[in-house]
Amino acid sequence: DQAKHQHQPVALYQADQAYGLTQRLSLAAGLQAALKNDALQLYHQPQINLHSGRVDGSEVLLRWHHAELGFIPPSEFIPLAEDTGIVNELTLWVIDRACQHLQQLRQEGFVNYNVSLNISGKDIAEPDFLDNVRAILGRYPIPLQNLTFELTESVTVSDFHLLQHTLDALAAMGINIAIDDYGTGYSSLFYIAELPFTELKIDKSFVSDLDDSGRHLTIVKTTIEMAKRLGLRVVAEGIETAAVEALLKEHDCQLAQGFYYRKPSPFDQYLSWLKQS
Ligand code: C2E
Ligand code: MG
Ligand code: MG
Ligand code: MG
Repeated sequence: DQAKHQHQPVALYQADQAYGLTQRLSLAAGLQAALKNDALQLYHQPQINLHSGRVDGSEVLLRWHHAELGFIPPSEFIPLAEDTGIVNELTLWVIDRACQHLQQLRQEGFVNYNVSLNISGKDIAEPDFLDNVRAILGRYPIPLQNLTFELTESVTVSDFHLLQHTLDALAAMGINIAIDDYGTGYSSLFYIAELPFTELKIDKSFVSDLDDSGRHLTIVKTTIEMAKRLGLRVVAEGIETAAVEALLKEHDCQLAQGFYYRKPSPFDQYLSWLKQS
C-alpha cells in the first residue's frame, strides 16, 4: 500500500507533463500555421481623450481563432509563443499589420491618430529586432510619432542594458514607448527613471473597481500626478462604468480605455464605428 502511495504521484505527474507538452507543441505549431495562413486578426480598442471626449487612437490586440478549439485568448497563446520562440514572428506581423491600419486610418482622414501595439520582453533579446522593425516601418509612409510600442511592466529582463539600448533606439526613431500594466511589476520607479518612456498605462486592476474612497483611488491619483510631472501621457485601462470615468476626469487623467467605451473589435467594424462617432 505504501509503495502504491509513493508510486502514484510520480506516474500521474509524468502523464500530465507528457500530455501538457504534446498539447503545447501542437498548439505552437497551430499558431505558426495561423501566422502563415493569415488566420490571426488584429482587433482595435479605442482610447478616449477625457478632455475632448474624442477618440485619440486605439490599441491593437491580437486574436487567434483556432479551427477546432475556437477562440484562444492572448493570455494563453502569447506566453506559449514566448516559450516556444515564435513570439518575435508574431510581433513583426503585428507591427506590419498595425502600420497598414494606421496608413488606412490616415487615408480616411484620421490624421493625428495614434496606434498602440504590444511588444514582448522576448523581442528585446532578438539580435535582428531593430533591423526588422526599421525594415517594416520603412515600407509605410506613416509618421512614427503616431505609433506607440507598449511593454508590460512585469516583463522579465535578463539584460537591462540591452533593454535600455533597444528602447532608446526605438525612441530615437520617434516611436512612443509606453509602460503597460503599470503597478503590477516590481521595479516600476527604476524603469521609469532609466528608460525612455513617453506614456504610462495604469493597470486595470487599480481602475476597474475605483470608487471615491480606498487605496486604489490614492494610487491612481498619485500615479496620474507623477506621470504628469514627468511629462508622460497617462492612460487608464479597464474603465467599465460612468462612475469610474467621472473619477478619472476629476483627477485629470488624460486618456481612457475600457469596455465602457467599446470592446476590442475587428478593424473593419472598428473603422465604421469610428467614422460614425
Ligand atoms: P494589455 O496589453 O494590457 O491589453 C489590455 C487587455 O485588457 C486586453 O485584453 C483588453 O481586451 C482588456 N480590456 C480592455 N478594456 C477592459 C475592461 O474594461 N475590462 C476588462 N476586464 N478588460 C479590458 P486581451 O485582448 O485579452 O489581451 C490580454 C493581454 O495579452 C494584453 O494585455 C497583452 O499583454 C497581451 N497581448 C494582446 N495582444 C498582443 C500582441 O499583439 N502582442 C503581445 N506581445 N501581447 C499581446
Ligand atoms: Mg497593452
Ligand atoms: Mg495593459
Ligand atoms: Mg493589462
